Amino acid sequence: MWIVPEAAIADLITPEASFEAVEAVFAAMSRGDAYNFPVIREAIGHADALYGFKSGFDRAGLNLGLKSGGYWPGNEARGLTNHQSSVFLFDADTGKCSAVVGGNLLTALRTAAASSVSIRHLARQDAKVLGMIGAGHQSAFQMRAAAQQRDFDKVIGWNFHPEMLSRLEETAAGLGLPFEAVDLDRLGQEADVIISITSSFSPILMASQVSPGTHIACMGTDTKGKQEVGADLVARASVFTDEVSQSISIGECQHAIAQGLIKEDMISELGAVINGTHPGRSSDTEVTLFDGTGVGLQDLAVAAKVVDLAIARGIAIEVDF
Ligand code: NAD
Repeated sequence: MWIVPEAAIADLITPEASFEAVEAVFAAMSRGDAYNFPVIREAIGHADALYGFKSGFDRAGLNLGLKSGGYWPGNEARGLTNHQSSVFLFDADTGKCSAVVGGNLLTALRTAAASSVSIRHLARQDAKVLGMIGAGHQSAFQMRAAAQQRDFDKVIGWNFHPEMLSRLEETAAGLGLPFEAVDLDRLGQEADVIISITSSFSPILMASQVSPGTHIACMGTDTKGKQEVGADLVARASVFTDEVSQSISIGECQHAIAQGLIKEDMISELGAVINGTHPGRSSDTEVTLFDGTGVGLQDLAVAAKVVDLAIARGIAIEVDF
């Protein structure tokens, strides 16, 4: 069995490699070659923690396993990251545990890769302005991955806590892009691509604020009750997701479904667009929305890549298990 510690991962996997892994597994899911098992997420009644599992099997890549982890709000006071996760991989032929991989950085990379895949396949080619809603830990990864996909000349941003906007400004500067803090009306009017990555439980951006032709990647809603955009915006858009069952239960679509504004069969898999079985964007005025709920197979795909790289570079720790 191989162990790849959290501290080794930053030097092993690039955003580009994460993109390839996530794009490939979305395609495999849509072909029926890979599937996720139901998500478990529990408030454990200790340390105010939320803990759970995301798991699945990719028959094409032979990745079997799970990501275990959650959110410990008291960690920061102890000098630890609040989000904690580890990925366990198993040999698909024998069931033996084949690897344990630190999952914290991988979570940010695979989440950023997912919205980046959606931008590659759904945003207008001439998109110039990137709009960011959210300025927390994930937002910097999201912005950097998005910038790989289109020739943006500006980033604009809004955050519920304005004092955090400096993270967006610094990240944009690192990409050589100007940044401007704006209100939500301007953000919706001017942005060609919008990424929302917040822990909001009420809608931030509404349909009336968004210009025709925009692509929106809603990445923060991964739990029942969370919501980043109005259900009216989901109803106005052509909606794509990583996995439909998660989209309607824990993703952004849960609200539009509950209000009867959309039906499940109106939500398409992003993998179908990657595979060419769905045409994707149909016009320059269509609003497209990607509901990125975060699936276990994304974690397995990037973790498996990390294990291969770590073995090849002699960094993986081998344990008789
Ligand atoms: P973080 O704690 O670092 O940042 C939280 C962000 O949400 C900040 O921008 C904050 O200002 C904003 N926020 C907090 N309360 C808000 C409110 N009431 N209304 C509007 N905005 C509010 O978190 P993070 O690590 O950046 O993660 C952001 C979100 O992304 C979380 O909800 C997390 O669960 C989710 N996430 C999703 C995936 C996925 O695969 N879809 C993966 C990782 C994280």
